[in-house]
Amino acid sequence: MWIATAPGQSVPKEAPGLKVHLINPSSVSFGTAVITPRWQYVLAAATPRSFGDPVLVDETLSQLRPDSIRAGDAVGIGIHTANALRGYEIGKLARSRGAFVIFGGIHATLYPDEALELGGAHAVVKGDGDLAWGRALADCREGVPKPMYVGGQIEASDFVSARWDLVPRNRYMWASVQTVRGCPKHCSFCSVWRTDGQRPRQRASDVVIEEIVQLRRMGFRFIALADDNFYPVTLTDLSLAVQQKNSARLNELKSIRAERFELMSRLAQLPDDMVFFTQITMEAAEDPEFLDAMKAARIKGALVGVESVTPEGLKDVYKDFNLAGEKLTEQLRTFRRHGVHVLGSFIFGLPSDRPETFAATAAAAISAECTFAQFVMLSPYPGTVDFNRWEKTLGENPPTVAGIPLTRRWLIPQALRPKLYWDHPVMSAEEIRSRTQGVWDSFYSWRPIWKRSKFIKSNRGRLAFVLISRIYRMMYADSGIATDSARVTWSGRWARWMAKPCRYLFAGSPMPHLEVPERRQPDLESPALVPLSL
Ligand code: SF4
Repeated sequence: MWIATAPGQSVPKEAPGLKVHLINPSSVSFGTAVITPRWQYVLAAATPRSFGDPVLVDETLSQLRPDSIRAGDAVGIGIHTANALRGYEIGKLARSRGAFVIFGGIHATLYPDEALELGGAHAVVKGDGDLAWGRALADCREGVPKPMYVGGQIEASDFVSARWDLVPRNRYMWASVQTVRGCPKHCSFCSVWRTDGQRPRQRASDVVIEEIVQLRRMGFRFIALADDNFYPVTLTDLSLAVQQKNSARLNELKSIRAERFELMSRLAQLPDDMVFFTQITMEAAEDPEFLDAMKAARIKGALVGVESVTPEGLKDVYKDFNLAGEKLTEQLRTFRRHGVHVLGSFIFGLPSDRPETFAATAAAAISAECTFAQFVMLSPYPGTVDFNRWEKTLGENPPTVAGIPLTRRWLIPQALRPKLYWDHPVMSAEEIRSRTQGVWDSFYSWRPIWKRSKFIKSNRGRLAFVLISRIYRMMYADSGIATDSARVTWSGRWARWMAKPCRYLFAGSPMPHLEVPERRQPDLESPALVPLSL
């Protein structure tokens, strides 16, 4: 039995013994959020039933109520670099109230000592929490948590399915389901391949589809396939295995690919009001069979890491498997031709960038028919090649802000945090920031958005697209790069105000009797799996 409290928070009416809390920290709350924080629902499922249902607090919806934490409770806090500071505040607060504090997530995996020193942690779970979380809780119950639990990189068959029965249904636009962890690439600004590994750990379609059907039964129509890279086997990988006559490798790749097609064929059998979104590398555009299967599966959009429109920029980030120039535009358009909308992701501030790169990138995003785009400033993220290189250049005594070394920039209070961390060969940090903001402004001004919406037939649909584009811009751009606090506050208010009605555009009527589509045995010799061109 559950009673409602603040939006996004619920507590068991009677909570015997140690109560488990799972907290997603955030300094800003919108009352409504775009995507469910999947980790909370996975760890809720990984919580042994003897502890009762955990209390989930997602601070992107509403802030934690400190008095909900009692002495002897166990508080799990998941952090990434951007919300680590808020996570540490919560950790110290929970510890001061007598609770056991356990940190996890990418940032705690990379900096476990920091969580122990600054976040009031009794314990840190490093790596995948699916199995290690239960061990940490059992030790808390005995009163003897260990400082470290090594979760490592578990096999896909051990991934825990999320407990969606705990989700506050009316607070999120999208639910999130993971189909694969890990990415075989090695981009210099990305930590995924180092923390989740380069070997794709792919879940069987059975467990994925069961979660998705459960969500659709509850009324979620929009599902983000929250994967590191939805396209783990490229045609180049297959071709190399053929050339090398490596049949063991070829069979392994074919079976990963077969599972992808299997999943997509089952998604295609779900109600046609469903929409999926994922994250994919640009090479998928060379694989028409894959794109057609995505279209049939209603995977209507994908975040594609374009990063740079110049060959020099791609070299800067170790992403020379991407195309540049006219070929790049053509490749991105291929997604559109196959019915997959692109959210193009671009980085500014690369050493090879010049003032003219900004306008060229904005023009490329438009001519490549990107439906959405994000423009981020290059930042050294812990766990990446770029970060290690940058940290080394600053030496033993890096510069400080408010007494905090720049190499621990996430600990610097938000208002004092620099916007850019590298000296650029030809532009100042302020020039890069203001030019980046200019590109956001031009891509998301009313007229271009309205023009981009022309693929939608109804006026109501076009209007919804315009609103969603504006919300996306307010939520993601101004909070990150604007220096004008009035603009940030106004954007936050606007996004908060608009997000609520927009949520209804995403909701569907519950379908409690929806069946799970059946599995069909894949044909490993099918031309879709090993195209004849190889
Ligand atoms: S940026 Fe994308 S393609 Fe590159 S390593 Fe990270 S997940 Fe893989």
